[in-house]
Amino acid sequence: MTATLGTATRTFAVRDPATTEVVAVVPDGDAADATAAVDAAAAAFPAWSATAPRVRAEVLRRAYEAIVADADRLAALITSENGKSDADARAEVGYAAEFFRWFSEEAVRTEGGYGVSPAGGTRTIVTHRPVGVAALVTPWNFPAAMASRKIAPALAAGCTVVLKPAAETPLTALAIAELLTVAGVPEGVVNVVATTSPAEVVTTWLEDPRVRKVSFTGSTGVGRTLLKQAADRVLNSSMELGGNAPFVVTGDADVEAAVAGAMVAKFRNGGQACTAANRFFVHADVVEEFVARFGAHVDELEVAPLISDRAVEEVAALVDEAIADGAVVRHRGPVGDRGWRYPATLLTGVRPDMRIAREEIFGPVVTIIPWDDEATMLEQANDSELGLAAYVYAGRLQDALRIAEALDAGMVGVNRGVVSDPATPFGGVKQSGIGREGAREGIREYQETQYFSVDWS
Ligand code: NAD
Repeated sequence: MTATLGTATRTFAVRDPATTEVVAVVPDGDAADATAAVDAAAAAFPAWSATAPRVRAEVLRRAYEAIVADADRLAALITSENGKSDADARAEVGYAAEFFRWFSEEAVRTEGGYGVSPAGGTRTIVTHRPVGVAALVTPWNFPAAMASRKIAPALAAGCTVVLKPAAETPLTALAIAELLTVAGVPEGVVNVVATTSPAEVVTTWLEDPRVRKVSFTGSTGVGRTLLKQAADRVLNSSMELGGNAPFVVTGDADVEAAVAGAMVAKFRNGGQACTAANRFFVHADVVEEFVARFGAHVDELEVAPLISDRAVEEVAALVDEAIADGAVVRHRGPVGDRGWRYPATLLTGVRPDMRIAREEIFGPVVTIIPWDDEATMLEQANDSELGLAAYVYAGRLQDALRIAEALDAGMVGVNRGVVSDPATPFGGVKQSGIGREGAREGIREYQETQYFSVDWS
């Protein structure tokens, strides 16, 4: 790894959301650093892409082991810059490490295909090759996992990368890059540029002819901007964007299990997850029981701080507007007195057309929307331009699957409040994104398909 920060003369502060105090000062990268990072990645590409898959696999396996061995320090670092609880930070480190393990195993699955043309006149060999230097851009909400979910498949495929973490959370990405060096990733293969000028750095990358791929995780708005920029060079693009997950509970669901799943689907990371359940469609037969049981947890729950004072203001504005429009605060948790806080809140009286139901909340707020007609509920659940995750709890598997199939979402938790898993193809439909991360599909995002048409006369 090369942290291409050498020429940066400016710096910026990273703050702990729990205390708002400065935890580190980091060099602030600019366009020159961005170009230097591509120089390094382009120089490293020929050797890394030609490295035997087994050797790349072993490096990635050592990266997995290095991250697991350093989990205590990494979790503390995540908590210090992101604010999430120690338990959430540890879970994230484990999840992040698993991408290195999974893609160490995928790196050697290089098979393509051998075909006989229908008329018999040619033979066809299909192969996959690394796309080239990949530009990776990640958000602050999962600083270890989002970087790992991109770096691991890229390296497995034989790509070299330049990575821009979010300015709120650069420390975790820098620490992971250091661990990769220890694990044997050669100089120049992974290059991190931390910056407070994201557009300057990323535009430099998207305009550089040596960059062959962009993979972005973040908001749909920024994703759209990057796609427009990528269009100028017809750049291979993967987008993991926002979500507005519905959480459906049927009349015969196990309400206690649904509440346990809802706690995770809603409150992991204080609700600041793209997969976070935003809209709870609960059948009228069980809605009061669901609200009472879920609310009992909400009353006790002290959530971790949000990422910034602006995030708190945005969540508060959504809730206040909903209340002014008829929503009712039925349950509210305690709020810590330091840092950027918003209390766990459960609202009833929410209508699907309210802004709080139409936009990604990105905070610890539950909105309850009762239903009794399945078709109407599905129409409301799907009435969104976003389609990342969804959840369904039902007593009978066939009911759960029927609803799951009808939901416009890339991922559906069926009687489960979690969908993330390195062995599965993570991603969304509609404006939640393009492409998938994890699973077999994850490595394909960093490969081009090439075939050889062989004369057989
Ligand atoms: P964001 O879009 O503001 O920022 C994401 C990244 O883009 C950051 O690194 C940021 O510095 C960079 N960025 C911002 N403006 C840019 C510009 N003009 N040009 C280039 N880069 C720019 O998102 P965020 O607030 O950090 O993260 C929250 C969003 O991310 C939510 O919408 C959430 O749903 C989404 N998200 C999606 C997934 C997924 O896998 N689908 C995962 C996590 C988060």
